[in-house]
Amino acid sequence: MRTTPHGPPTPDFQPLLDEIAAALRPQAGQQGKVASYIPALARVNAAQFGIALRTCEGAEAAAGDCDTPFSIQSVSKLFSLTMCLQLIGEALWQRVGREPSGNPFNSLVQLESEHGLPRNPFINAGAIAVADRLVSQGRSAGDLAAMLSDLAGTAIEIDEEVAASEAATGFRNHALANFMKSFGKIDNDVAPVLELYFRQCALRMNCRQLARAAGYLCRDGGHPGGGATPVLTERQARRVNALMLTCGTYDMAGEFAFLIGLPCKSGVGGGIVAVVPDRLTLSVWSPALDASGNSWLGMRALEMFVARTGLSVF
Ligand code: GLN
Repeated sequence: MRTTPHGPPTPDFQPLLDEIAAALRPQAGQQGKVASYIPALARVNAAQFGIALRTCEGAEAAAGDCDTPFSIQSVSKLFSLTMCLQLIGEALWQRVGREPSGNPFNSLVQLESEHGLPRNPFINAGAIAVADRLVSQGRSAGDLAAMLSDLAGTAIEIDEEVAASEAATGFRNHALANFMKSFGKIDNDVAPVLELYFRQCALRMNCRQLARAAGYLCRDGGHPGGGATPVLTERQARRVNALMLTCGTYDMAGEFAFLIGLPCKSGVGGGIVAVVPDRLTLSVWSPALDASGNSWLGMRALEMFVARTGLSVF
């Protein structure tokens, strides 16, 4: 146990993460499938598993393949949303909703009946709408990489090969962007908006870096590295957590809330970031996905963590 100036002592999580990695790493790649619709991701070895956490007091624990970088894919939607809230605040909600979609992350069906307004910022259509707002503010994926480097305290880069691979094959995302443009819900040309979106999805990070970078979400928006300027206001950080809980894992959000009970954001690279508000941020990674595009083993790891610690928002 470590004693902290405020509140109860911080438990040492290292033995638990070692236990989770020992139990689950041998299963990596045995269930689920690595995303293959982005050719550069299809080559990733499925037999990998990493986990890392960082408490609000700054204590860290990590196990398994926690230092191996991977494509963060839709986990990046958390950070583009954060940057957009910093820049335009509430005005964002004129272009994107806050309701779970109950549909796959790349679905087109709701967009037509809902006149090009995406349900939430975490499905692809919503993240493309956020990317459009960022382009209007003169921002690029490079600015997101810079923001993440500051939050994680180490250089974060874009994997240009993954970005090019998705740009060449992302027909659905081209369709989504053009469809929203036809409803007047995208202000910029589709090309620069998709360029930002594909490059943000191709950011490469490891579990340790993700647990650090997302740290503002467990500390009411405060900078995870102790920087003087908050990343978000307390109200904004709480709302991002609410969106993660209801929309962060697409059509599995109900199951995640039921089984895990933590705000989570997943990506088809196999990464998932979870937040225990006021306590810690946790990141898991294993590339093989279930049918909804969430890491199969990552979800098991989060279930195990919550079962062992009792840390859930419910
Ligand atoms: N880049 C991926 C896509 O647009 C992101 C999807 C995801 O991680 N769920 O399809």
